[in-house]
Order: sequence, then C-alpha cells, then structure tokens
Amino acid sequence: MITQRKTTKASRRRNRTSTRHEIKTQLCCDWLLPRIVSVTFPSRDRYDVAGGLGTDRADIGLWKEPPHYSLANLRAWPQHNELPDPDAVKMFTSQYGVLRGLMIDEMLEMQRAQAIIHGEDPDEIVINVPNNPPKPRFLFHSFTFTEAQALLREAWVQNEESADSIKEIETQAMLGGLLPRDAGFEFQPSARVGGSELRVNNLWSLICFLFLDDYAAKRTAKCASPDCPAPYFLKKRHDQKFCEAGPCVAWGHRQRSLRYWHKKHGKPIRSKQR
Ligand SMILES: [Zn+2]
Repeated sequence: MITQRKTTKASRRRNRTSTRHEIKTQLCCDWLLPRIVSVTFPSRDRYDVAGGLGTDRADIGLWKEPPHYSLANLRAWPQHNELPDPDAVKMFTSQYGVLRGLMIDEMLEMQRAQAIIHGEDPDEIVINVPNNPPKPRFLFHSFTFTEAQALLREAWVQNEESADSIKEIETQAMLGGLLPRDAGFEFQPSARVGGSELRVNNLWSLICFLFLDDYAAKRTAKCASPDCPAPYFLKKRHDQKFCEAGPCVAWGHRQRSLRYWHKKHGKPIRSKQR
C-alpha cells in the first residue's frame, strides 16, 4: 500500500532548515617540489630516484595534465617492460613532486633517536643518498612507481576486477606517505576561501583523490585503439570509446566505416558465394 504523507506549512519550514549545508572547499597541495632529481641504476632491473627539495610548493593550477592521468600513462622502460621509463619518472617527479618517497633526513632523525633510546651510537646510522643532493633529501625505488601505476591502471578500466583496486586506492589515499605519521588530508575551516581548505599532504593522496572523483563520475576509460600511446584517458562523453589523439580518432572512424560497409555489403557478398 502506498501512503502519501501530508505536509503542513510548519513541517515544510522545519524541512527547509534541516537541509544539508553546502560548504565551499578549495583543494591545496601541501608539499615542496624537487630542485634536483637524479636516477641511479644499482642493477639492470631496478633504479633509484633521489634528490633534494626546493622552496616552491606544488600548485594544481599550473599543471597542463592532471597527475593521475600522467602516472597511468607513463611509458614503459624499453629494456624492462614492467617498469616505467626512468627518464619519464624523472620528468614526472620534477613536475609534480615526490610520489611516495622517504624523506631521508626525517628518517635519519627517527632512527638516530631510536638508537639513543637503545644506548647505541646514533652517528653510526647513515643512509647513502646518490649524488648527495641538498636537504631536505628524498629517495625512492622504481617499484614504488610500478606498484602505484599498476594499481591505478587496474582500477581505471572499470571492470568487475576493479572493485578491490578501488578499495585499496581509498585506503592508500588516507595514508598517503610512507612514514606512519603521514596522513593524506587535513581539513581546515578558512575565512580566506570563504569555506574550507582540504590540504593534501602528498602527491599519491592527491592522485588517489582525483582518480576516485573521475571514477565515480564514470569518466575513466581505456582507449580502444590498439596503438594508443596514452590509452588511460578521461571521457568527455559517456559513449566515448577512443581518446582524442589524432591517430586514435582516425582509427575509430575507419572501424565505424568498416562496420557500416560490412553491414551494407556483408550479406549480399556471402549470398553470392553460396
Ligand atoms: Zn587513444
């Protein structure tokens, strides 16, 4: 049975006051960009990326392409297909910042404090950073990029297997960095913004956040063109199958023309062959 609830003038007034309050929120990046980035190769199948931070803060408004799109499409290293190309990683790091690196000097401080507590000599604890860049220094291994990129790509394609990757991305977004005290986000009421600021404390948390936003709006998709150089794209129309690169659009047109031709001429040709 369907019942209709009668609303009085008084209840309508009450409902109006209990509606959700929309708050203006501005997204801010709260990390420093590197001044120096270098890549070293301890073996043939891995590399380390190290460097020193400068004084410029990351600014979401200055990037031509969003970082989740760039990370998903980082090209593979020709000599080891499972790893992203080290030059591409170096450029990515210079532009967007450290993905999930260890801040060496904070790490050293923590380990030296532990040593003092345990009655050991803190000066014996040393972490070697290649090329000894200026402080604050960072260091990360190639597998940091491989893992992050693989997770993002699994989730990007929006199929049945994506569900676990989405949960993992949601969890990693909140944690963000590699140190236990690193939280991904801080929410702060702000008179300057006229609402609030959502401070993102590290690049990986921002990537997770931007990705989840596009995923929820069903914008993430993989380009159907087999030779697409950047196949993980963001759709502008819900039925879009190809990214907007010229060769992929042309390939899509050819496929549509072929389908049309087969539809129009396929049956008569087959009937003649019988
Ligand atoms: Zn494409």
